[in-house]
Amino acid sequence: MMKANVFRAPGHFGLEEKTIPKAGPGEAVIRVRLTTICGTDVQIVNGEYPFQAGVTLGHEAVGTIHELGVGVTGYEIGQRILVGAITPCGQCEFCLGGHTSQCGGGPLGGWRLGNTLDGTQAEYVLIPHAQANLAIVPNALSDEQVLLLGHIASTGFAAAERAGIQLGDTVAVFAQGPVGLCATLGARLLGAAELIAIDEDPARLALARQFGATATVLAGQDPVGKIQEITNHRGVDVAIEALGFQETFESALRVLRPGGTLSSVGVYCGHLKVPLDAFGAGQRDQTIVTTLCPGGKERMTRLMRLMGAHRIDLSRLITHLFALDEIAEAYELFESHRNGVLKVGIRVS
Ligand SMILES: [Zn+2]
Ligand SMILES: [Zn+2]
Repeated sequence: MMKANVFRAPGHFGLEEKTIPKAGPGEAVIRVRLTTICGTDVQIVNGEYPFQAGVTLGHEAVGTIHELGVGVTGYEIGQRILVGAITPCGQCEFCLGGHTSQCGGGPLGGWRLGNTLDGTQAEYVLIPHAQANLAIVPNALSDEQVLLLGHIASTGFAAAERAGIQLGDTVAVFAQGPVGLCATLGARLLGAAELIAIDEDPARLALARQFGATATVLAGQDPVGKIQEITNHRGVDVAIEALGFQETFESALRVLRPGGTLSSVGVYCGHLKVPLDAFGAGQRDQTIVTTLCPGGKERMTRLMRLMGAHRIDLSRLITHLFALDEIAEAYELFESHRNGVLKVGIRVS
C-alpha cells in the first residue's frame, strides 16, 4: 500500500491508503521523490474545476523508476526521472502533427496525471505512454533544480517561444507568478531588449528584475499608460498574459504595437471580451497565440540541458519544502500567498 493525496469533494481532500499501481504494457510506475502543488490543484480542491472523487492530485514529479511495463525500452529500474504535467502518447494526429500538448484533442489535451489518471502527490504514480514521457535526470542536477521544468517553467518559456520573440524586441509580461516569472526569463533568453514586468506585488517585481526584467510596473498604477510612456507610445512587440483575467488580457492588447504578438498563457474563467478599440477593429495585423504546457521527454531533456549549462536558475521559485504528511499545510500556505511563497516542494522519498 502507499499514501496518496486524494480529492473527495470540494473542500475535502487528504492522504489516504491506496494500492501501489502496476505497470501495464507501455506504462511505468515511478516512486516519487519530489512533487509540488499547481494553482490548478488549488482550483480543483476549491471546486472551481470539475474533478472526479477518488483521484489522486498532482501533475509534476521527480522520481525513480520502480517498474517498467512490457514494451518500454532503454530504461532501468532505479533511474531518476522527470515527469511532465502533460504526458502525450506520441502517436496520435495531434502529437504527430507537432502539437504534443494537444494530444488526444480534448479540452486540456494530454493532461492526464492528476486529472483523468491518478496524480503525483503520492508515493508511487503510474505513467502512461512511458516511452514518450520518461526524461532521465542527469546526475549533476538535483531534484529541486529540475522539478519545475516539467510544467511551470516549461509553460512560461513556451509563452515566450510561441510569441516568436526576436533579438532586440520590447516585451511586456503581465503577472509575475511562477509562470509569469518563467515567461520573463524565457523572453530574456530569447533576446528581448526592453523587458517590462507587471504585477501587483513589489516582492514579485523585485524577483522579476533578477529574472531579466529591465523595468517594472505595479499593476494598480495604470500599467497601460506607464508602458506607453516607457515605449514612447510605440507599444511593445510582444505582450505576454500570464494571469488569465479580462483586465490583464485587455491591458496586454492595449500596449501591443500594430503587427505585434499577444501571447496568452493564463487560464481564463467565464467569458473573455476583446475591446474593439484596442483590437483596431481587427485591422492591426496582430497575432494572438495561446499556449498549453508542452509535454514529452524531449522537451524536458532540452530544459534540463539549459539548467545543466547554468543558463537558468529557478532555485528562488521553490520557497518552501514540506513532507508528504504535511500536504494539507502545504496547500494552505501555497494558496495564502503568505511568507513570500511562490512554489512549495513536497518531499515524498
Ligand atoms: Zn498545473
Ligand atoms: Zn497523442
